[in-house]
Amino acid sequence: NEPLSVVDPEIAAVLEQELGRQRSTLEMIASENFVPRAVLESQGSVLTNKYAEGYPGRRYYGGCEFVDIAENLAIERAKSLFGAQFANVQPHSGAQANAAVLHAIANAGDTILGLELAHGGHLTHGMKLNFSGRLYNAVAYGVDPETFLIDMDVVRQKALEHKPAVIIAGWSAYPRQLDFAAFRAIADEVGAKLWVDMAHFAGLVAAGLHPSPMEHAHVVSSTVHKTIGGPRSGFILSNDESLFKKLNSAVFPGQQGGPLMHVIAAKATAFKLAASPEFRDRQERTIRGAQILADRLTAVDARDAGIGVLTGGTDVHLALVDLRESHIDGKQAEDVLHEVGITVNRNSVPFDPRPPMVTSGVRIGTPALATRGFDDAEFAEVADVIAQALTGASEVPVLRERVATLADRFPLYPGL
Ligand code: PLP
Repeated sequence: NEPLSVVDPEIAAVLEQELGRQRSTLEMIASENFVPRAVLESQGSVLTNKYAEGYPGRRYYGGCEFVDIAENLAIERAKSLFGAQFANVQPHSGAQANAAVLHAIANAGDTILGLELAHGGHLTHGMKLNFSGRLYNAVAYGVDPETFLIDMDVVRQKALEHKPAVIIAGWSAYPRQLDFAAFRAIADEVGAKLWVDMAHFAGLVAAGLHPSPMEHAHVVSSTVHKTIGGPRSGFILSNDESLFKKLNSAVFPGQQGGPLMHVIAAKATAFKLAASPEFRDRQERTIRGAQILADRLTAVDARDAGIGVLTGGTDVHLALVDLRESHIDGKQAEDVLHEVGITVNRNSVPFDPRPPMVTSGVRIGTPALATRGFDDAEFAEVADVIAQALTGASEVPVLRERVATLADRFPLYPGL
C-alpha cells in the first residue's frame, strides 16, 4: 500500500518531470488537451481493477453493478450531447473505434475511400501499413493543389470510379469544415456507407460551433481526448438502427476484450462537462485563438519570410503553417518553437517538396491553451511569439521569457 514515490521512485520522477514540463511550456499540439482533475481521479481509481466484458446488464463477469452505472451514464450523456440514438463508449482509443467501425460496415477486401494521409487524413483511413490499408482496398481523395480544400467534385469522381463500400469523411490536419450533406449524397449515389471520423473536431460539434455529422453519417467515430478534453479513448455513435447491433459486436467481441472501466467513468464526466456553458465558452476561445494565430502568420512580416497558412485561415481549432516558400523547414520550426517553450508538431503539407521527416509545415492547435484559460489577448501574444520565432525577428531567450510569463499567469493543476 505504499505510494509510487516509494515503490518506484524512477517512475514517480517521470510523473513529476512531466507535470513540470506541462506547467512550464505552452502546449499547442492540436490533438492534445488537459483533462480536468475530476477526470484524473476516475482514471487513477479502483475501477481499473474491474473486468466487465459485455455491456451493461449483459456482462460475462460478476460484480459489475457499479461499473454498469458508470457505463450507462457515459452512453446516455454521449447520446444526448451529440443527438445520437446509439453510443458505444468502450473503444480504448480512436484507432480502435475506427477498427470496430470498419469491422461493422465493411468486409475484408472491400474498397474504402478516405482523405489521403499526406493531405491530412488519418492512418486508420487506409494507410498501407495500418490495418485499414492491409485488410481493405484503400483508395484516397486529396485536396485541390491550388486551394488546398477538399473538392467535392473530385470526391464524387473517385467514388464513381472506385465504387467504395465505405466513404470516410474526417481528418487529422485540415483547417476547414466538411460538407457532410455532400458526402452523404455521394455515398448514396454509389451505395456506400458514410463514416465520419470527428476525432479532432468533436468538441466543436458538441458546443454547436461546427456542423454535426449525426444526421448525415451512417456512423460517427471520435476520440475523447482532443477538443473534448476528456480521457485518452474513443467512442462510436450512430442513428442508423440497422447498424447498432453490428457496431456493438464489432467493438466487443470483435476488436476488444475487457473495457477500461476507469476510462469509461472518466468519459462520462467529460461528456457531462461538455454540456456546460463553460465548455462552449472554451470552444469559442479555441476557434478564435486559431483564427488569431492564422491572421498573425499571414501578416506582412510572415509573408515576407515566405510563411503562410494553408487555405489562408481556419474554421476550427488549428492552423496549418505553410513553409514551402520559407528558408526554415518543418523540423527547424518545431525545434525553434521547442526552444522557446512552445510544443507543436511538424506536419507534411499536401504536395510537400520536402521529405516526411523534415516537412514544410507545422500543425498548431489551440485547445490545450484554451483549457488553460487563454483568451484573445493571450492568443495574440503567443501568436506573435510564434511569428517572431519563425521569422527570426527576436532572439530565443527573449521569446522564452515571454512564454514563461504566459505559462506563469495560467497555473496548471494548482495544488497537484
Ligand atoms: N482519427 C483521427 C482523425 C485522428 O486524428 C486520430 C488521432 O490522431 C485518431 C483517429 C486515433 O486516435 P488514437 O490516437 O486515440 O488512436
